[in-house]
Amino acid sequence: MTRIPTPNRVRGTQDIFGDEQRRFAHVLDAFERVRRLYCFGRVDVPVFEATEVFARSIGETTDVVSKEMYTFPDRGGDSITLRPEFTAGIARAFLTNGWRQHAPMKLATSGPVFRYERPQKGRFRQFHQIDAEVIGAAEPAADVELLVMADQLLRELGIEGVTLRLNTLGDAETRDAWRAALVAHFRAHRDALSEESLARLAKNPLRILDSKDPRDRPVADAAPDIDAYLTAEARAFFDAVTAGLDAAGVAWTRDARLVRGLDYYRHTAFEFTTDRLGAQGTVLAGGRYDGLIGSLGGPETPGVGWAAGVERLAMLVAELPEEAVKLAVVADRTELDSAALKVTQFLRDKGLAIESAYSGKPKKQAEAAKKRNVDGVLYVRDEKDGVPVLHLTQFRRDDGKRVSRALMTVLPDEWARISGDQP
Ligand code: ATP
Ligand code: MG
Repeated sequence: MTRIPTPNRVRGTQDIFGDEQRRFAHVLDAFERVRRLYCFGRVDVPVFEATEVFARSIGETTDVVSKEMYTFPDRGGDSITLRPEFTAGIARAFLTNGWRQHAPMKLATSGPVFRYERPQKGRFRQFHQIDAEVIGAAEPAADVELLVMADQLLRELGIEGVTLRLNTLGDAETRDAWRAALVAHFRAHRDALSEESLARLAKNPLRILDSKDPRDRPVADAAPDIDAYLTAEARAFFDAVTAGLDAAGVAWTRDARLVRGLDYYRHTAFEFTTDRLGAQGTVLAGGRYDGLIGSLGGPETPGVGWAAGVERLAMLVAELPEEAVKLAVVADRTELDSAALKVTQFLRDKGLAIESAYSGKPKKQAEAAKKRNVDGVLYVRDEKDGVPVLHLTQFRRDDGKRVSRALMTVLPDEWARISGDQP
């Protein structure tokens, strides 16, 4: 038979294992804990949706929709897209299920998302996000709670050196006036702009502000700030958000150049950034999207939320929590295998993690267990009157050195209970 070449992993995907997996799981555990503290309900939405869910809400001119989506016709000919983010799918679920009656709804989720991007450190084609949304709350207090929650998550993960950069994109009136001023400014300097920004000028001029192309920076930096165009309401909203952050002790800096890539943002826009991940410095980002639900054909419903890349957070985690105690149970002789199995089952039923080998001499088994970082080996050594004798050898976690040995006597009636011979 001819051998087929082993298929490769698809570019931009990952097999997450070992230490990397532990960091990854640690981020998800912390998120789960924090979302409960803030009383956000877990929601799970489909990995794929009708393409229009994303195309309509995220905006046709954004990078995500114009070049990053995994879109394909399914066998029935419908256009399907693998979710490039959570917000649009959650907003769709809100409408589909008639959740308006429960508004404001505080929702959280996590899982894989897909974007066709050039893979590099901290940038994948299948990556993972944690996500928190408040739908149906127009108050700045919702923005504040989400930001405080994000801050607490970063603190619980022990991630330092992250800056909260905050901006306002104003309300519709503000945005229109500011947009006109920006277009006038960029038109006046169009000769100095990159080709990409020239294309944006027609479709999405705000995006020129956060262009990473050095040719654009002087013009972008000299562009008018939104401040002169803020309506009284938009200014009051932003002031309420910053006052809330100050009261909660969350540090922030104003970044008047921060605009989010997606079209649906209003008022608050923010990013938590670090300089420790090179060009992939944004770890958590979001904002208010009061226009989104309307763009999906629903009644105008305010919303605000954020998403963070699990891989990027995992890379920043300084220290993993200690793993729970773990033992290995090793039978000294084959005749003691069944007693060892009973001990193993008893301990696992009690919630203790037990490593076990499938074969091998006792010494080999103990060595293998040590390599898997067990805290000790429980040897089933002998049997006296049908009751096994147990020896516990304990190891030190950091260097695996033996620190204690103990002979453990099991009483006959105790053994009857452990071995299941007596209820
Ligand atoms: P970037 O500017 O890095 O492309 P973005 O603005 O496209 O980020 P969002 O759409 O706001 O990112 O997604 C929220 C978070 O998801 C980001 O802050 C980042 O941590 C993470 N993220 C985005 N794209 C990727 C990717 N391709 N691989 C890994 N993580 C990603
Ligand atoms: Mg991107």
